[in-house]
Formats: sequence, structure tokens, C-alpha cells
Amino acid sequence: MSDLIWFNGKIIPQEQATTHVLSHAIHYGSSVFEGVRAYETPNGPAIFRLQDHTKRLFDSAKIYRMQIPYTADEINEACKAAVRENGLKNAYLRPFAFLGNVGLGVNPKSHKADVAVAAMEWGTYLGDGALEAGVDACVSSWNRLAPNTMPTAAKAGGNYLSSQLISGEAKRNGYVEGIALDVNGYLSEGAGENLFIVKNGVIYTPPTTAAILPGLTRDTMMYLAKKAGFEVREESISREALYLADEFFMTGTAAEVTPVRSVDQIEIGTGKRGEITEQLQQAYFDLVKGQTEDENGWLTLINE
Ligand code: PMP
Repeated sequence: MSDLIWFNGKIIPQEQATTHVLSHAIHYGSSVFEGVRAYETPNGPAIFRLQDHTKRLFDSAKIYRMQIPYTADEINEACKAAVRENGLKNAYLRPFAFLGNVGLGVNPKSHKADVAVAAMEWGTYLGDGALEAGVDACVSSWNRLAPNTMPTAAKAGGNYLSSQLISGEAKRNGYVEGIALDVNGYLSEGAGENLFIVKNGVIYTPPTTAAILPGLTRDTMMYLAKKAGFEVREESISREALYLADEFFMTGTAAEVTPVRSVDQIEIGTGKRGEITEQLQQAYFDLVKGQTEDENGWLTLINE
């Protein structure tokens, strides 16, 4: 962890950014957050898809009627400042909003959130070598959230109890990550990643109706795959289609583009990073590191 954090409008030392133990978020999971990355580019450190992450933060807050007392521009500036003030070149950012000391009733007395942005160094999320060698995953015994129970399109703290069950079970059983099915038995997502399979040169990913967080890396990947000439289909994927895929990879801001070489000890394709996965992974890193043209204005330089 780096030392400084943006907290309710000011950059302060992290140890001073404290909250009450009776904060609503601690008891009831009432927080919303983002995971964002900045990469070193030829023009200096740049935050990838900052505006889209901030938009999703506000969307998550909207679903829970949580009020963020800052504008999107102010949050964007806070993110840039958090990277800059900590002297980081590559960074993982954690903007978040939570209900603080607003009473212990489940229905909060105030919907006004406290807001913070942390920035830190964070290497490969799923372990050293994961991006080249691929990881071993399992299908979780836990399903992802059912529709109209807890909204998976909101990136809310409480949703990550589900993710903890999925990833904890996987790790205890010796796997790097767990993959959840939705309540209908179709593929949903990993504990913190979206899923893609490649079959006969076509790229498939579960639709937003499969209880997923609509990931920004997922969106970026669909864009890059289409740009490279691949057909991309958002459709329901069965568990067995995963075992029989030619290639399988997971995407997420933290996980980036991680190949999966086996699921439930069944080798996927050749049991190594697939060719199409490697091609798209390269396209992703070239984009986020400013090595290819930023056609969509997705890079925000922290010094501008
Ligand atoms: N699903 C879940 C449950 C996640 O936590 C994440 C990581 N934020 C993702 C998918 C991928 O989302 P993104 O690509 O926007 O990071």
C-alpha cells in the first residue's frame, strides 16, 4: 500500500482516513467501489477507461440510492491525484463510496456516502506467470446471485461475500480461481473476472442476463476481438461447453487477460495459453500501455 489516500475531498495519510466502527457499510455491506488500473505509457502514466469506471461507480450508487457528494469530474480528478501524489507509474486504484455512521437501522438515516480513492502498486492478480502459463480453475459449488435478489450490475461491497465463497473454496481445493454458474446452471463469471471461450475460431461470453458484473475489460475485449475480425457472441454457455472449449480466458481490471489451462482438472484445448488468447492479450496490453492508437479516448494521462 502506498501512503496517501484521497478521502472526502482531501489527500491525507492513509492512517488518518478512519471511520466509525458502527459504519453502516461494515454491518450491512453498503459500499460501492471500482477497481481501476493505470499503466505507464510513452506519454506518462495513464488511467485506463477512467470515465467509464467512474460512471459505473455512480450507477452502482444509483441502484442503492446512495448519494455521492461529488461530481464525476471531481472523482476523476481524485483518481489522477491519488496516482500522482503517491508517485506511482503503474497502479491499481480503488475508488469507493460507503455509508458511514448513519445509524444502525438497516434503512440508513442518511444516504450520503463517504468517498475515498486509494492507489497502490499491484502486480499480476492471479499469480506470477499466470498471464503466460494460464491458471487452473474449478467450477464452484456456489451459484452466482439470482436475478432480483442482489443486483450484480452494481459493484457493491456486499456482492463480494459471494465472490469470497467462490474464490475461497477454489483456493482451499488447490485452484487459482473459482467459476460460478448462474441459478439456471449456465456460466456466469469468476469471483472477480468475466469469462470468454473460443470454439472453432468464434468467441463466446456469457450475456449480462447471466448474473455478471458487466466488466469494462469484457467490453474492451469484445471491441478488440471484433476489431481483429473475430465473431463475438454473447450467449448462454453450458458447463460442458467450457470443458470442450478450444481456449478459455478470464478478464478483469485486476486479472487483465488471464488464460485458463484447466477446469476441474480437465485440460482446456492444448492445456496452454491458446493462440487467439495470446493475440487478444497482446492487443489489450498494447492498448492499455499506449502502444497502439487510443481510438476511443480510453487513456487519461494523470498529469493532464
Ligand atoms: N466480475 C466481477 C465479480 C468482478 O469483481 C470484476 C472485477 N471488477 C469483473 C467481473 C471484471 O470487471 P472489470 O473488467 O470492469 O474489472
